[in-house]
Amino acid sequence: MSHPDSFPARAVVDLDAIAGNVARLAGYARGAQVMAVVKADAYGHGLVPAAQAAQAGGATWLGVAQLAEAMDLREAGVAGRILTWIFSPGADLARALALDLDLSVGAPWALAEVEAAARATGRTPRVHLKVDTGLGRGGQFLPAWSDMLADALRAQAEGVLEVVGVWSHLASAEDVTSPVTDAQLEVFTEAVARAEAGGAHLEVRHLSNSAATIVNPAMRFDLVRPGLAVFGLSPVPGRASAELGLRPAMRVEAAVMLVKDARAGQGVSYGHTYTTAADTVLADIPLGYADGIPRHASNAGPMLLGGRVRRIAGRVCMDQVVVDLEGDRGVRAGDVAVLFGPGDDGEPTAQDWAEAAGTISYEIVTRLGARIPRVYT
Ligand code: PLP
Repeated sequence: MSHPDSFPARAVVDLDAIAGNVARLAGYARGAQVMAVVKADAYGHGLVPAAQAAQAGGATWLGVAQLAEAMDLREAGVAGRILTWIFSPGADLARALALDLDLSVGAPWALAEVEAAARATGRTPRVHLKVDTGLGRGGQFLPAWSDMLADALRAQAEGVLEVVGVWSHLASAEDVTSPVTDAQLEVFTEAVARAEAGGAHLEVRHLSNSAATIVNPAMRFDLVRPGLAVFGLSPVPGRASAELGLRPAMRVEAAVMLVKDARAGQGVSYGHTYTTAADTVLADIPLGYADGIPRHASNAGPMLLGGRVRRIAGRVCMDQVVVDLEGDRGVRAGDVAVLFGPGDDGEPTAQDWAEAAGTISYEIVTRLGARIPRVYT
């Protein structure tokens, strides 16, 4: 957004909250290191400022999905260990090594390309071998993983690379009763044992996301990888952020653009899915699905406006939503509507929006549009 002062909405990001959340997570991790996961523009909070705040709170590692995100961090001057786990064949691994990034390897082709980049540059990559313990996504299932491990240890013996980590990702970490999690832990333990028996000197073994960090001590190993909780959102169903000692770091607010009278029976927004029940006052709020306000929150998305939580009337448009003030004449153009925040002042939370839109709080914050200026406090 090249003219942030002219944009009628903003996302205020509390960097102290991010630092405090990481410190809280380090408490849950009891001695394990914390890798703050800052992929997807730090879940919408802004990659570099959020990463720096996480480091200030005690994160010794940063984790990102895309190699390009890791490069952006380094190029912004962010020091410390950074792990990246998504790159495709032909990625600029020589550059990754020059930037001193840790690389996840989850496929034989990736190992071959990392090895080739090492030989071409004379650098020694630090590799984390990703095992698919049951998520059915990244990494190799155990039999194929063992073959990849053998290849990696052969390259390590030749002095080409170092296997510093074994890692995996959980399918149902937030469900403490899930047998899937127990099965994943068993496979992970076996993978670690195979790596160590094969001669790997592992620096870090890591499995836990936010939910596992908080609810599942058996999963902590040497390093935990929380994302959502770094930003203060609860990863545990039915438990609010405050109960877990977390503080939501983002508040999204917008200035009311227009207030006008409307008659009873007036259809509102595309398709007239809402009709005013009585003579009333309508307010236009200048945020829409282009800004990441979910269209599934039509007739449902909440916001604090004029001292009350009110809901969107009618469909979410590309750049605007409408609120029925139900006759309240106290709201003026320029008044601030708070869509979500920590909840201290009675405003809805990202979790409330997730429920209104039939999604998860992850999606509410990460899809927040790039054109909404991020303002740091
Ligand atoms: N590790 C990996 C591989 C991930 O993909 C993610 C995010 O989805 C995380 C850790 C952090 O997960 P969460 O935000 O649930 O803490």
